[in-house]
Amino acid sequence: MEDTRFSPESDRARILLAGTRDTAMKQLSQLLDTRGFHVPVLASAMDRFVKSLVPLPRAAACNIGCAWCCHLRVGVSIPETLVIFHEIRAQATPEGLAFLKHRILKTSGRGDILDENFWRRSRCHCPFLDVDGAYQCLIYGLRPFSCRAFHSLDEAVCRKGYDQGMEIQVPCFPLYRAGVDLYSSVLIQVAAQRGLASFQVGFIRALEILFTDDTASEHWLQGENVFLPAKIAEVTLD
Ligand code: SF4
Ligand code: SF4
Repeated sequence: MEDTRFSPESDRARILLAGTRDTAMKQLSQLLDTRGFHVPVLASAMDRFVKSLVPLPRAAACNIGCAWCCHLRVGVSIPETLVIFHEIRAQATPEGLAFLKHRILKTSGRGDILDENFWRRSRCHCPFLDVDGAYQCLIYGLRPFSCRAFHSLDEAVCRKGYDQGMEIQVPCFPLYRAGVDLYSSVLIQVAAQRGLASFQVGFIRALEILFTDDTASEHWLQGENVFLPAKIAEVTLD
């Protein structure tokens, strides 16, 4: 049975999370040392991290088609965004790509998408949410770590937050959430250690940059601070 009282603040949890983080940082650093800092290498590292995740506990209330949480701001690392963008570009048809670009630019034009309150008050949905269909994520297998981490033990709480357009404490398995989220922090930290302009960015704003500037990926990998307009917060790991 899942222990919901086991918070990331407890000593055992902190040790566990620190160990997972250190291992992930070591694995990622070794991979980048041997194969170079390129998007396919980052994709391979992310794939490895995703495969190492434990499944969401069955007691969570999350179900297919439930998507109140897909109306919130998503914070990601730049490497995640690069990998997701390049995978979308590789897999989508030209029409599919144009459709997604249109949706991203439309969302971006609706207001200050880097502000969490914009999402809550406007009830704006993520451009990857299939609102014309089954309310599923169009990039489910590629979704960012923060989307994988977010879950709830009570759908009614999620719905209340959406209905009231306000921040609300969603009951969750805190260790699960912290354990998944840490991979995004690891990607931020390892990129920063290599001298890149690395910080947490708004997912949709960062994608807008990539969709409208073909050179953005390459320039970032060369050390340029091209994602500064998408920056939302510094992430500290301790
Ligand atoms: S976090 Fe909440 S809104 Fe999102 S899928 Fe789970 S229950 Fe539904
Ligand atoms: S990327 Fe997918 S899971 Fe994440 S907020 Fe958007 S629709 Fe939801």
